[in-house]
Amino acid sequence: MKDRIFLSSPHMSDEGYEMHYVKEAFDTNWIAPLGENVNEFEKELASKVGSKDAAALNSGTGAIHLALRAAGVGEGDIVFCPTLTFSATANPIIYQNAIPVFIDSDYETWNMCPKALEEAFTKYPEVKAVIVVHLYGLSADMDRIVELCKKHNVVLIEDAAESLGTYYKGKHTGTFGQYGIFSFNGNKIITTSGGGMLVSNSEERIAKVRFWATQSRDQARHYQHSELGFNYRMSNVVAGIGRGQLKVLDQRVEKKKYIYEFYNKQLGGLKGVEFMPSNEWDEPNYWLSSMTLSGKVRPIDVMEALEAENIESRPVWKPMHMQPFFEKYDFVGTDVSEKLFENGVCLPSDTKMTDEDLERVVRIIKGMWRVEC
Ligand SMILES: *Cc1c(COP(=O)(O)O)cnc(C)c1O
Repeated sequence: MKDRIFLSSPHMSDEGYEMHYVKEAFDTNWIAPLGENVNEFEKELASKVGSKDAAALNSGTGAIHLALRAAGVGEGDIVFCPTLTFSATANPIIYQNAIPVFIDSDYETWNMCPKALEEAFTKYPEVKAVIVVHLYGLSADMDRIVELCKKHNVVLIEDAAESLGTYYKGKHTGTFGQYGIFSFNGNKIITTSGGGMLVSNSEERIAKVRFWATQSRDQARHYQHSELGFNYRMSNVVAGIGRGQLKVLDQRVEKKKYIYEFYNKQLGGLKGVEFMPSNEWDEPNYWLSSMTLSGKVRPIDVMEALEAENIESRPVWKPMHMQPFFEKYDFVGTDVSEKLFENGVCLPSDTKMTDEDLERVVRIIKGMWRVEC
């Protein structure tokens, strides 16, 4: 069996930057709690994305949770959330005992449809916050979404877990809303083995997030708590990996783009194949190269053919309003996200892939069209 080709696996720097910072943490015994790597990783990431401040947390999910708290979302509040996303976007709404309303995608961005969002504002004028996602590193239609949120005076939270390195009109995704979050989970464009970051231009809100994330300990010699606390902080060892990874983020984006362009050139002409959209405002990080199929070859056929050759691929996210756990919540839109789920497939987009690996994937997929047509 040939070596496995992954969808997107951890890729440490050739230079060993990560080990350097991790070793520093060991040498100074700043294993935990916190320490210099955490402080510096926060500063370095905030500066990279152009945000005033950042709080390093132990997951992107935790970052969304605390962003909702910072936005004042509580019991019974309504939160608009894209339906086409990973469940981690929606789960924290439930942690806060709030109520998600799922919003459809559009074909232009695969992300939150501004028209559906507008409709949702009409239906639920009392909405407390909006979460927008930049799926697979493609930016949502931010001008229109920001405008709508401003018009209705509602807090905007950006789930930029998949879009570190993606710019919308030259501005980094995650910095349009009052709060933005990033993830460093194992398959994201850079990874710390697991972790997240919450960014905001409000240093006061970020200070509050750090406070909540370390069990809400009041300033006192004894353990005193006047608020509910969480154990959500990132460790100093993990932050060291993050600092090293951040140094190669631009290289990773470049390689992801190369992979996308390779596939698009080789497969884009096949009957019924359409690659994820590209918009003039968007400089994506191309986290996962994805396409939709409208012909006889179905996504499952592609995934099975690749799996038989030890190559990983996967469907596009199954919409939240179709999930057994979430189907009782309201959904605003048509069938766009459902169709994207039905027809979409994410191709292996691992930055360690060689040209030979890419050829292998392309050969298998092209072969299926030869048989079918
Ligand atoms: C990965 C991901 C998250 C969650 O991040 P974790 O660090 O794994 O908790 C949230 N939203 C989206 C869209 C993601 O892809």
